[in-house]
Amino acid sequence: MLSPGATIGILGGGQLGRMTALAAARLGFRTHIFATEVDSPGSQVTPLVTIGRFDDAAALRRFAETVDVVTYETENIPLETVSAILPIRPVLPGAEVLRVTQDRLLEKDFIRGIGVGTAPYQAINNVEELHAALLGLEGRAILKSVRMGYDGKGQVAVDRLSDAGVAWRQMGGAQGILEGFVEFRCEVSVIVARGLDGAVAAYPAVENHHAHHILDRTIAPARVSSAVAAAAEAAALGIANALDVKGLLAVEMFVTRDDRVLVNELAPRPHNSGHWTMDACYTDQFEQLVRAITGLPLGSTDRHSDAEMRNLIGPEVETWASWLEQPRTKLHLYGKKDAPVGRKMGHVTTLKPRS
Ligand code: AMP
Repeated sequence: MLSPGATIGILGGGQLGRMTALAAARLGFRTHIFATEVDSPGSQVTPLVTIGRFDDAAALRRFAETVDVVTYETENIPLETVSAILPIRPVLPGAEVLRVTQDRLLEKDFIRGIGVGTAPYQAINNVEELHAALLGLEGRAILKSVRMGYDGKGQVAVDRLSDAGVAWRQMGGAQGILEGFVEFRCEVSVIVARGLDGAVAAYPAVENHHAHHILDRTIAPARVSSAVAAAAEAAALGIANALDVKGLLAVEMFVTRDDRVLVNELAPRPHNSGHWTMDACYTDQFEQLVRAITGLPLGSTDRHSDAEMRNLIGPEVETWASWLEQPRTKLHLYGKKDAPVGRKMGHVTTLKPRS
């Protein structure tokens, strides 16, 4: 177990690293952020910062020697980065967790392998395979790049009339996965915290609404039956245990019109759909991550309020001052200077009496 005063290393300087560093500071921990760019959201809130590249093994080793444990705020970091650190310090939630969750195909195979449902999918290795698969399609599908996909990047909607060559290029021309389009009733997610000793705590299932493939709003708790919420929570806990996660795992799911729960995507880190916990739960997701990776007991995932979280994306951040006038709304800004379309600049959480 690490005690307050110890230093947590964070790979990545985005808003997730920033909010983890702030939670760590509340518990008396220091954080050292390894970021690829200067003046990142994370590096604005801690004095210990390394600016470097994720393939600079010497810089990673120097970073590792100054910290007691390392975590990552994005799954899109090379496995070699983790390999450079592992001889010196543990990297949590784990190297294997990262390997599986940064590859959509491995991830879906893993989820199916433990008996949890997903959309139908098949691997697509080249444009000829795509052409053949499209001919056999009934209904719509989504072609996704296997790696480096988030917020809808590397995704193309297709059907049997689509041009395989065009879709392949739009997707990015690397290995792909073709997924059947799920006509979902709603999208939900569950965030699970799992400690070094295997103790688990799940946050309630929440409902997510996307705009242009980016999370727009989260409603907590999800407006689904207690059976659906329980099935979503059980699926998330089962995956976190099977992957031996030590930290946080966010599990995004579709709820079908006949109330089946199908897993779409995993993220082994704090998640945008968990930001509401900062204002509405006794222990928020960032504190929970700090507790989990330092070996402290997990906190309560109970909520004292219901909540609705709205992302402030791109120019929407200009509305920031108006949110301060709302008595039950909390404003969170990430310190980013430029606000291009699609960039997550901040979020607001509105609290409601607990249902
Ligand atoms: P992803 O990057 O896989 O999380 O996808 C981003 C969003 O695209 C999801 O949250 C859904 O709204 C939508 N989406 C992705 N895959 C599918 C699918 N197989 N069927 C229907 N919608 C999907």
